[in-house]
Amino acid sequence: MGINRRDFFKKSVIIAGSALIGTSSKAYAQNVANEKNWKLWEKRKGIISEDRYGVLVDTTRCIGCRRCEWACNEWNKNPNRPIQEFEASVSQTDSVFNHIRRMHAQNFTVVNRYYSPKDGKPIYVKRQCMHCEEPGCLSACFVDAFRKTSEGSVLYNPGVCIGCRYCMIACPFDVPAYEYNEPLNPQVTKCTMCYDRITTEGVVPACVEICPAEVMTFGKRSELIKLAHERIRNNPGKYVEHVYGEREVGGTCWLYLSSVPFNQIGFKTDIGETPIPKTSKGYLFAVKMFEIVGAWPLVFGAYYAISKARKKHTSSHDTSSEKKGESHGAKH
Ligand code: SF4
Ligand code: SF4
Repeated sequence: MGINRRDFFKKSVIIAGSALIGTSSKAYAQNVANEKNWKLWEKRKGIISEDRYGVLVDTTRCIGCRRCEWACNEWNKNPNRPIQEFEASVSQTDSVFNHIRRMHAQNFTVVNRYYSPKDGKPIYVKRQCMHCEEPGCLSACFVDAFRKTSEGSVLYNPGVCIGCRYCMIACPFDVPAYEYNEPLNPQVTKCTMCYDRITTEGVVPACVEICPAEVMTFGKRSELIKLAHERIRNNPGKYVEHVYGEREVGGTCWLYLSSVPFNQIGFKTDIGETPIPKTSKGYLFAVKMFEIVGAWPLVFGAYYAISKARKKHTSSHDTSSEKKGESHGAKH
């Protein structure tokens, strides 16, 4: 009987892991937001939403206060600082805006600063997972650690992840980050589009809620696309005639408006409209799989199996941010 690549990979990991599992010890603290949202999805997956949700980001309105970053950290129990420190970065000489940042393991969203080639004024751009309609991260994952939910959010399950990090290679927007600093049980992390807030709390994502400039509009994706085109139509000359995310790589739930061409504010404009799963199979699975990583997934899988076994002996309280000594930022 034949065995496909995925089965082969899974079995190899299990064998390698089983051989090396030894004594148990306490796992270190870890990011909690992705695991929490995955568990919520598992409870809710029979509930089919009528439409996908999304967020329209109007970059012409952003003032760079970075409150969205603060709110995201706070909601997701990521390490945080007082909100004043985020807001102050707009005027500081030695500012985080002096270089372009990408998301990292405990920072699911970042705001970057560009300058308009038209008038030299700053343009602030918030970035996070785009929640693709057909996600590259999902198609690249050997152990089905990603799901596209009927509400639009793309969620990640750290419970089955073996740390191969193919999702990071496959994402056309460089989104998934990795807890390189976690000695045991490192995870991939990314924005969940506040799946917990939009499904059970009935409220908008934390970044949308806090924004003082109404940069972001949360709603049904189809309606957001109409709204975006309406804004372009009703404000001649203000926006470029393109809604980023409407068609890129098959469409994304996060959509953007801009006053300048998107490649001038950090967006990739050469990724096409074909969904990544339709283009990545040949690249990721047929050619690069063993060329890129060789045999290390076996070793890494064993390492993960050990970590997961250890984790079973650790209570959820042990993995809280409190235990890790993280502080949360005061708002005022
Ligand atoms: S909170 Fe709103 S205005 Fe402030 S940086 Fe984020 S998107 Fe821009
Ligand atoms: S932006 Fe990247 S991480 Fe987010 S859903 Fe798309 S492929 Fe996955």
